[in-house]
Amino acid sequence: MTELMKGKIAAITGAASGIGLACARTLIAEGATVVLIDRAREKLDALCAELGERARPLVVDLLNGAEVSGMLPRILDVAGGLDIFHANAGAYIGGPVAEGDPDAWDRMLNLNINAAFRSVHAVLPHMIAQKSGDILFTSSIAGVVPVVWEPIYTASKFAVQAFVHSTRRQVAQHGVRIGAVLPGPVVTALLDDWPKAKMEEALANGSLMQPKEVADAVLFMLTRPRNVTIRDLVILPNSVDL
Ligand code: NAD
Repeated sequence: MTELMKGKIAAITGAASGIGLACARTLIAEGATVVLIDRAREKLDALCAELGERARPLVVDLLNGAEVSGMLPRILDVAGGLDIFHANAGAYIGGPVAEGDPDAWDRMLNLNINAAFRSVHAVLPHMIAQKSGDILFTSSIAGVVPVVWEPIYTASKFAVQAFVHSTRRQVAQHGVRIGAVLPGPVVTALLDDWPKAKMEEALANGSLMQPKEVADAVLFMLTRPRNVTIRDLVILPNSVDL
């Protein structure tokens, strides 16, 4: 263990699965204390028991605005501080607009956009007061490249990119850095909604990544010297059929 994150306190949303869980594992392995935020209580408890005493579970339903707004004191209570906030949780819906279900879009947009922005609003005062902090988003390659088979998801990630870019200078004056990791397709439960044929093709041609690869990119971003701005990091497999 290199202990690159020794003494740091991070909170990660959507940490009971996929990319969030891989990030939690990596940061804990590097010496951080991590608050794993998710709505999946039983999974969280089991994972934190496995990950050891520097893993702190926090059950939050990110679709509940009051719970998100009230998150900061609970994070500070379980972890004793906050240096890094990773707005990672997200959902996915693909398919043509004409065939979509607007109510399902609302739930996805609420999670991918509103909950993420609200959670940053909740934790920023703490980081501004301590004149230091890092905020990361898990965006997507769909945040910079319009993906034809998933227009509403693409729109949600473009919104994340817009937020990150237009907030960066505001928070920099307070010593807070903000950036996004933009992965291509990663093998997680999120892709369960991909059409089976598309998944088989992607597996066959090597266009999927593992969550740990994204976690390593996140570790790279977080370990830049503090005088270096965190920007955005795209991480792609060999080929993606966009
Ligand atoms: P995942 O489905 O494995 O994990 C998502 C986690 O979010 C789950 O643990 C789930 O319980 C939690 N969650 C969902 N709704 C919640 C809510 N209302 N309150 C609290 N927790 C909630 O997904 P993943 O692939 O790890 O996705 C993480 C992020 O990565 C998302 O923002 C996604 O858009 C992004 N991303 C994923 C891929 C990919 O191919 N998997 C690619 C690019 C970007």
